[in-house]
Amino acid sequence: MAKWAIAIHGGAGVDPNLPEQRQEEAKRLLSRCLQIGVDALKANKTAVDVVELVVRQLESDPMFNSGRGSALTAKGTVEMEASIMDGRKRRCGAVSGLTTVKNPVSLARLVMDRSPHSYLAFDGAEEFAREQGVEIVDNSYFITEENIGMLKLAKEANTILFDYRIPLPGADTCSASVGSLVPDTSLQMNGLPISIYSPETVGCVVVDSTGNCAAATSTGGLMNKKSGRIGDSPLIGSGTYACELCAISCTGEGEAIIRSTLARDVAAVMEYKGLNLQKAVDFVVKERLDEGQAGLIAVSRNGEVACKFNSNGMFRGCATEDGYMEVAIWE
Ligand code: ASP
Repeated sequence: MAKWAIAIHGGAGVDPNLPEQRQEEAKRLLSRCLQIGVDALKANKTAVDVVELVVRQLESDPMFNSGRGSALTAKGTVEMEASIMDGRKRRCGAVSGLTTVKNPVSLARLVMDRSPHSYLAFDGAEEFAREQGVEIVDNSYFITEENIGMLKLAKEANTILFDYRIPLPGADTCSASVGSLVPDTSLQMNGLPISIYSPETVGCVVVDSTGNCAAATSTGGLMNKKSGRIGDSPLIGSGTYACELCAISCTGEGEAIIRSTLARDVAAVMEYKGLNLQKAVDFVVKERLDEGQAGLIAVSRNGEVACKFNSNGMFRGCATEDGYMEVAIWE
């Protein structure tokens, strides 16, 4: 019997001034979701069932940037994306441009299990969701007051998301640089200025006790993204990957993750260079990721778990069969 292991993330790139209260809330959510995964593994659920289950939980809570609480497009709408991959058989499913599907990761699972395709997007994906009878909600269900405030601030600063503050073409790079934005204290949520929140993508990787690995990632994408923009999260090999050896879920600046084929490279380095999981993860983040800020979580079929990021913090947690359990945000 192999040893099971699980890792989850709630996104890379955290505001250094994120208030304690918010950090504690995020850690509580991560611990709760991790425990749901651990219980499912102890009950002998398969790796792919566990990653779907855990990501559904994260999507249903508005804390992170997936499902409810998704980052907004420049038009103020939500266009969600997700993917899932089952390692042993290398089966995969992905979706993009969802506007009404309550749990995008489960639609990605259905693309994998019940369609002849790997990836469905926009109207076709929504049509498929209705054919499959998944839970549908109004687009407004996903939109939080907090994210409306963040979009306003991102627009004012002429940046795509708010935590990395990527200047849009023509932006004044000074006003768009890290730390230079003064929070607008008139926009508040639970007594805290909205600008200090950083909405983040979620993911889960699992190796079950049969040694099978699986990965899932779900996101609303980048705050203030162009409508129609597709990031790394639904792209198999970039944001998500699983094979016989390992499973990986990435987070961070999608365009940089896509250029680096980050998730697949971890598996390739293990396979072709013979590195163990942590060394492969360290190598890929150091050597393959260019200026972009990103992070990833990974497990291997040997029950190893690894995590690495070059961003300022990453919401994450992991647990192994040996009883190790950790939830953390900073280095
Ligand atoms: N990688 C996601 C994207 O670019 C964002 C994130 O991970 O926070 O869509």
